[in-house]
Amino acid sequence: ANKGANHRLCLCGSPLFLKRRGYWEVIQRTLNGSQFYTFSVCNVGEREQDNWLRTTFIQRRPSASRVFVELQFIVRDCNSFDGASLTCKETFNLFTSESDADVGTTFRKGQFKKVATIAPDEITSKNELRINTETKVVENLSRKGFYLAFQDIGACIALLSVRVYYKTCPATVKSLASFPETVAGGENQALREVSGVCVENAISEELPRIYCTVDGEWVVPVGQCQCKPGYEEVEDECQECKAGSFKAEASGDKCTPCPANTQELDSGAVVCPCMDGFYRAPNDPPTGPCSGLPSAPRDLVATTSAGKLLLTWSPPEDTGGRTDITYSIECQRCEGMVCQSCGEKIRYEPAGVGLTDTKVSVSELDAHLNYTFTVEAHSGVTVLTNPPKITAMRVMERSSTSLSLFWDVKPRVHPRPIRYELTYRKKDDNLDVTTYTVLILEKNSVQIKDLVPGTAYLFRVQALSSDGSPGGSSMEEQFETSEHLTQNNTAVIFGVAAGGAAMLFIVIVVLFLKRNSHTRQGPEDTYFSSSEQLKPLKTYVDPHTYEDPNTAVLKFATEIHPSHITKQKVIGAGEFGEVYRGILKVPGRKEVAVAIKTLKPGYTEKQRQDFLSEASIMGQFSHQNIIRLEGVVTKFKHAMIVTEYMENGALDRYLRDHDGEFASFQLVGMLRGIAAGMKYLSDMSYVHRDLAARNILVNNTLECKVSDFGLSRVLEDDPEGTYTTSGGKIPIRWTAPEAIAYRKFTSASDVWSFGIVMWEVMAFGERPYWDMSNHEVMKAINEAFRLPAPMDCPSAVYQLMLQCWLQDRSKRPRFGDIVSLLDKLLRSPDSLKTIADFDPRISIRLPSTSGSDGSPFRSVSEWLESIKMSQYSENFACAGVVTMDQVLQMKNEDIKNIGVRLPGHLKRIAYSILGLKDQTSTLSVFAV
Ligand code: AMP
Repeated sequence: ANKGANHRLCLCGSPLFLKRRGYWEVIQRTLNGSQFYTFSVCNVGEREQDNWLRTTFIQRRPSASRVFVELQFIVRDCNSFDGASLTCKETFNLFTSESDADVGTTFRKGQFKKVATIAPDEITSKNELRINTETKVVENLSRKGFYLAFQDIGACIALLSVRVYYKTCPATVKSLASFPETVAGGENQALREVSGVCVENAISEELPRIYCTVDGEWVVPVGQCQCKPGYEEVEDECQECKAGSFKAEASGDKCTPCPANTQELDSGAVVCPCMDGFYRAPNDPPTGPCSGLPSAPRDLVATTSAGKLLLTWSPPEDTGGRTDITYSIECQRCEGMVCQSCGEKIRYEPAGVGLTDTKVSVSELDAHLNYTFTVEAHSGVTVLTNPPKITAMRVMERSSTSLSLFWDVKPRVHPRPIRYELTYRKKDDNLDVTTYTVLILEKNSVQIKDLVPGTAYLFRVQALSSDGSPGGSSMEEQFETSEHLTQNNTAVIFGVAAGGAAMLFIVIVVLFLKRNSHTRQGPEDTYFSSSEQLKPLKTYVDPHTYEDPNTAVLKFATEIHPSHITKQKVIGAGEFGEVYRGILKVPGRKEVAVAIKTLKPGYTEKQRQDFLSEASIMGQFSHQNIIRLEGVVTKFKHAMIVTEYMENGALDRYLRDHDGEFASFQLVGMLRGIAAGMKYLSDMSYVHRDLAARNILVNNTLECKVSDFGLSRVLEDDPEGTYTTSGGKIPIRWTAPEAIAYRKFTSASDVWSFGIVMWEVMAFGERPYWDMSNHEVMKAINEAFRLPAPMDCPSAVYQLMLQCWLQDRSKRPRFGDIVSLLDKLLRSPDSLKTIADFDPRISIRLPSTSGSDGSPFRSVSEWLESIKMSQYSENFACAGVVTMDQVLQMKNEDIKNIGVRLPGHLKRIAYSILGLKDQTSTLSVFAV
């Protein structure tokens, strides 16, 4: 332990001590040439001794409530006194008395409390001197100081030294935060929380904290400080990145050398900008190398065969350091000196743009004409030098209520698909309130319907760069709808184009030209802000943003009359009251089975609002994998929330009840559903915070739906919620480290929780991290250990879990990626055949891997007992498995063969064997 300032009191000189009755004597001794004093007493022949020796007043540092008293002393063997053995003692007592002031020589025995009886470990006989050292703790001191006293009851003792000290955690720098010297707490405060400050040029999202243990050790630093961008950690300090290197983010990473084709800046760089003539494509990481433009393709050759023209060429000599080279073809038709674009008529096979091969075949050419073909090479950075430009917008088809538009874009080829923002409005709109409609399109054509007949509209189209910002020039045109209703006979032709043009979203911008400076943006305006055009149409609206939460419920949920609801049976208990199964029969609609959540009587207004907030949130969602809200009852005394009924209840329970009954692809199918629901939530910017199998509901077609939404009650009703030092309640084993450490809840932390749900599902509802304590879980995660693959878990699925559990949240997959990957796995069942191996390098040690004292098991039955599987002792014995070495050799098949059939038992035994192997490190792979 780091013992801090030790208060040493040696008995050099008697003034420190006050004697009683005069029986304790100061004796001067010389040992190894130096003189020192001891206090001795030796009345062994006399009855009823009660001799006291007291220290002078010992002042106490206010925070030191617990002090240690180290005594050195000698006790004479009673047997060495002839005839005194009846009265002779070999122990003495240590007492203490607290006081706010020095009481001088006043001594009142009654004020002293006994701390301990001091007995020697070694007795001094006639000819051999044995010195004992004993340390006793005096706890819970609270006054300004204290006295120690020694009571002799008839022993022969010499007290050589008394050392009184307390323990401190020394001033320290840990994880780039400095913490002051702190006195260790006592019994009543085993861990003292201490706040620190980040060292210079380090920052942290949360105040760094640490705990000082009673033993003077620092433990559990929370809220990591990290060196600022441009700085790296060098021996507990943040130093500037050296010239020619950079660091872009506050992180624990080192500075890295500037990548290829970038400018080397002075020390402390946070980016290395591209050198002139080099660029980063929009999707290139800002920390990656820069690349140049490709040079022209070479050796263009045209050959004709079977009425087609084949163009071939060689790749550019210089690709600019990129691999994403594509080619586009431009065609010009020349008659005499006049050349014009070949137009849409000619056909390119496979395509005229975005070619990755160095050839193309051209058909539908007219005879006896001169054509000029130009082949251009493009790469991801081409777009940066040539912002897309809209040219020639025109009407392809017109009716009284619709217009079909088409426009050209130059250059025609881009490394990534271009998106277009089309804005239109009626030309003669009243200028006070102008309504714009904004469409984001993926194709350069669109059919706009529901227009007013015989009306002029203004259209503006602009290309968007891949990050969604407008790029290049835009074009504005005016077109009119026709006067009369006409038969729309060309719709078929255009329908193809418009149908293919996936409409991402529609945003209606209402501009209050005169009054907007005073218009506060309410939550209901969120969708309509033009700066948010690239967000999905719907964003989750926090019901708290409504001053009156009742307005939010009314806005997002349908009011149901209680007479339309029939409660049938209690199926669960929520935080606010019972959950029933029942029937909803709204006149004119089909009867549906529903779950009815009720609010128990005696609620407060706050509880009622919290209860209904779940409906305000759920009512905003509409997705196959999100529990659907049917409606609410708010206008009657008994408030209710009515949702679709999920026959199989909570997923964790359901899987535990059907352990081993589903094939991997069925489990992956369930996960796919949950991931799709979560993708929907994250697209709406809703962070769930309590994603766990217990909060997923399953219906009778095994469809899984995310449930449990709420606000202030987030986690309050979750039995897994544990209060953290930062005050919130967090289900530790489902929560990402950054959310535990500094409450950074994001969709990326939901992804971490999804990884845990994946594990729960693949392990048929097993409890994550088994019976480890929350503290052990956090420690293991912090040390980069992760849950091992569940038994029979496909390798690809386990790899995805590990990705979800990456420490760096920016590297975790997004829910969109997860859905795509799970879809891919489901489409090719073979991909689920490879089973994940047990990896001892990253896996958390499995439970029950050693005897209770940590030593290896001595027998098979002892081991089986420890994992509560004693019922199989005979099966093992009959199969001749009698040593732990034999157990270690067993494969899953062997365990099955000796008669362990229940999946849960099989798993328990197989896991335990894995754990034993992990521990003995004899085998790292266990073929499951
Ligand atoms: P909750 O308050 O949402 O955690 O609900 C408590 C319990 O009621 C859940 O664990 C389920 O067992 C059950 N439950 C809640 N909603 C439904 C539902 N829509 N369908 C079936 N059971 C439900």
